[in-house]
Amino acid sequence: MTARIALVTGGTGGIGTAIVQRLVREGHRVASNYRDADKAEAWRQKMIAAGCPVTLVPGDVGDPEAAADMVRAIEKALGPVDILINNAGITRDTTFHKMTYQQWMDVVNTNLNACFNVTRPVIESMRERKWGRIVQISSINGQKGQYGQANYAAAKAGMHGFTISLAQENARFGITVNTVSPGYVGTDMVMAVPEDVRAKIVAQIPAGRLGKPEEIAYAVNFFLSEEAAWITGANLAINGGHYMGW
Ligand code: NDP
Repeated sequence: MTARIALVTGGTGGIGTAIVQRLVREGHRVASNYRDADKAEAWRQKMIAAGCPVTLVPGDVGDPEAAADMVRAIEKALGPVDILINNAGITRDTTFHKMTYQQWMDVVNTNLNACFNVTRPVIESMRERKWGRIVQISSINGQKGQYGQANYAAAKAGMHGFTISLAQENARFGITVNTVSPGYVGTDMVMAVPEDVRAKIVAQIPAGRLGKPEEIAYAVNFFLSEEAAWITGANLAINGGHYMGW
C-alpha cells in the first residue's frame, strides 16, 4: 500500500491503539491526539517500545477550535491528512428518563459533533489532492439501539447519516467515506460494564466471546487500500454475529 498520512482520533484507547498499530505496520505515518499530556507520553513510550512510532498532538475532538488546531499541528509535523479515522468516543449510560442534558450533550458532542470538528479541517485538502479515506467508528448500538444508551445510540446512528452524505458529496474526488460498527470489544469502555451485565451480553453473541481490538483494526484497514476505491458509503458491522441487520 502507498504510504499515507493518517490521523486516528482517540488513538490512545483500546480500539484506537490497535488501529494505530495496524496503520503503522502497513507503512503509514500515523498521528493521534491527546487530552492528558502525562497519560499520552506514557502511551507514546509504550508504542515506541513496541516499534510503533506515533506523532501525538493535543486536541479535544469535541471542541471545534481545538480540533482545527490539532489538524494544523499534524499538517505541520507530517503533511496533509490522507486517512482520517474518527474513533474517539465516550459513553455516559443511563435510562433516558434519568438522563441529564449534560450526559446527552457530552456523548453527542464527543461521538458525533467531533466528526464535524475533525473532518471539516481535512476535507478540502483531500478534495484538492483527489484522494482520501475517512472511516467513522460507530457501534452496534447505533444500529439496534440499547437500553440505557439513548444518547450514545443516537450519536452513533448519526455517524451513519454523516457517512452516507459525505460519501455522496466526495466520491468524485477520490475520497471514500465508510463506517465500521463494532459489537462489544474487550476494551476499558466495555470492561467498565458490571461483570454480570457483561456475561449477559456475551451470552447474546453467537461467536461466544467479546471482540478483540485487532479485529476492528483489520476491518478499518480493509477500507483504506487502493483496491477499496469503489467502496464508499458502506457500513461494516463486525460483531461476532450479535446483530445482522443493516
Ligand atoms: P476507550 O475508552 O478505550 O478509548 C476512547 C479514546 O477516545 C481514548 O483515547 C480517549 O482519550 C479518546 N477520547 C474520548 N473523548 C475525547 C475527546 N473529547 N477528545 C479527544 N479524545 C477523546 O474506548 P474504545 O477504544 O473501546 O472505543 C473506541 C471507539 O469505538 C469509540 O468511538 C467507541 O464508541 C467505539 N466502540 C467501542 C466498542 C467497544 O466495545 N469497546 C463497541 C462499539 C463501538 P482520553 O484518554 O483522553 O480519554
